[in-house]
Amino acid sequence: MSEIEEEAFKLIQSKPEGVLQSELWKLLEIDSRKCSRIVKKLTDSDQVERIEYKSEGVKTYLLKAKKRAVEPELLLAGGELLPCIGCEEECSVEDCPHLMDWMYQLAIEEFSDKSE
Ligand code: SF4
Repeated sequence: MSEIEEEAFKLIQSKPEGVLQSELWKLLEIDSRKCSRIVKKLTDSDQVERIEYKSEGVKTYLLKAKKRAVEPELLLAGGELLPCIGCEEECSVEDCPHLMDWMYQLAIEEFSDKSE
């Protein structure tokens, strides 16, 4: 994925309600033809869905990032499930001991995988 495609995808992803294609090219500061090519790549690779939309009587498209299922093994480290799942504590990601322990397990696992 090129830098501009990645930027477009991140922008679309950051707006769960979607982004109008007629706005996207302005936000990316590119011309509309280049924007169409980028959108085509993102829709062809199934990362973005394109929904017909009328804005002030003009036809455009609403672009929404597709949600992907998370691979279950990505939520496991050392057989331990990511502690954030079902966590009801007041969250402080930067200094959460549960998350630190889990990430430590993940690092150990990755290190042992590489040394095998
Ligand atoms: S970072 Fe810690 S406190 Fe926050 S949700 Fe995850 S486990 Fe819970």
